[in-house]
Amino acid sequence: MKCHICHKDINGKYYIDQWGHNICASHMDKKEVTMCTSCGAFTTERPIADGRCMCKDCRSTVVNTHREVAECLSYVKNQLASVGFDFGTCNINNIPIEIVSAKKIAEIRKAPISTNNKGVTFTETQMRGTSRDNMKVVGHTHKIYMLSDQPRLEFLGTLAHELLHVWQNEHDIKLPQMKCEGLCNMGSYLIYSIENTPIAQHYITNLKESPDPIYGNGFRYVFAQYEMSGWRGIINNVIKFIM
Ligand SMILES: [Zn+2]
Ligand SMILES: [Zn+2]
Ligand SMILES: [Zn+2]
Repeated sequence: MKCHICHKDINGKYYIDQWGHNICASHMDKKEVTMCTSCGAFTTERPIADGRCMCKDCRSTVVNTHREVAECLSYVKNQLASVGFDFGTCNINNIPIEIVSAKKIAEIRKAPISTNNKGVTFTETQMRGTSRDNMKVVGHTHKIYMLSDQPRLEFLGTLAHELLHVWQNEHDIKLPQMKCEGLCNMGSYLIYSIENTPIAQHYITNLKESPDPIYGNGFRYVFAQYEMSGWRGIINNVIKFIM
């Protein structure tokens, strides 16, 4: 058996990643090799400033230009619309999207720095009326911040999550946090299930097995409803406030 890193015959102890790559244990023990934060494959790439480490394959698809962001936005919007998420008069293509560091995301969320937070959505709701007791919602403006250095599929999944925050905010839907984040994670699930590649399957497994009490439990809760009644079922339940 050959080592994936030094290409020599493996002798003695070795490690295997989830993609079936075998490497001499010494590479890992000497910290010559780590695992890609995005796909879990062994990699000799150096970590970036926030501690994430990306293999060459994942790095080669990172989304960072305006044009790529705009393409991702319209792709994700169309996929969400195709299963029944109606954004009404909200012009999704005009939502400003800014790519920022993990530190900046933490500042915006007023939370500790964590690269698990890959995006955040801000919505302003405009109310107008003739008196204090007679205020009606007249519109919403949204802004999405995306964590930098996300490979394309991860970026699409995160963007789908954030667009389902936009969808909930546009419809003034106020779910408890667990259900709210669980529904948003269904957006990521949609993107990964359409892609249907081994890496997409890896991201789906991460969603299904997340130990997080909000994001993981929330996803499992909403996913169980989806398995029973499909996209129509969960969308109707959310809109009728019976989820
Ligand atoms: Zn080796
Ligand atoms: Zn990778
Ligand atoms: Zn969220």
